[in-house]
Amino acid sequence: MELKKYIRTIKDFPEKGIEFKDISLLLANGIALNYTINEMALLAKDADIIVGPDARGFLFGTPVAATLKKPFIMVRKQGKLPGEVVSCDYGLEYGRNVLEIQKGIVQKGQKAVIIDDVLATGGTLEAIIKLLNSQGVEILRIIVLMELEGFNARERLDCDIKSLIYINKGE
Ligand code: AMP
Repeated sequence: MELKKYIRTIKDFPEKGIEFKDISLLLANGIALNYTINEMALLAKDADIIVGPDARGFLFGTPVAATLKKPFIMVRKQGKLPGEVVSCDYGLEYGRNVLEIQKGIVQKGQKAVIIDDVLATGGTLEAIIKLLNSQGVEILRIIVLMELEGFNARERLDCDIKSLIYINKGE
């Protein structure tokens, strides 16, 4: 299935100079959504846990985890998770952020697959990898709906990366 046709580019959102990749049309098409989740689930079969960042990582990570009957672990922005947390600071394509997981939610020795919508600079995923590694979790692979070319994320992330869509600059 040609998933690219469900991705819209919105120029200068949320800030001038950013070409925002809008996934709304893909989510609004049940067949494209079902195809996306099934493709991701095929690539995540060997995971002990599925990990996804707030907020769009939840949209794909949770249904993949449910399909595979695996645990889903939330990575959220600072202050959103109750109880004790482990956190990591990171830089975005636009702005900075702090990500957290709940202390004790993952176990040492577990093998994780991380799922998100967009891979741009790789900063978000790099922070999540650090966070999980600090808890003794091994990263099997990263799965993203789309990878944006021109950010060299693959050089930054020493990890197996599977992307369902590749998007060239200006596309
Ligand atoms: P990065 O850390 O630079 O790889 O950015 C990845 C995160 O930021 C993802 O969780 C995306 O949701 C979001 N993101 C970054 N760049 C874009 C973009 N051009 N369009 C839509 N979302 C983006």
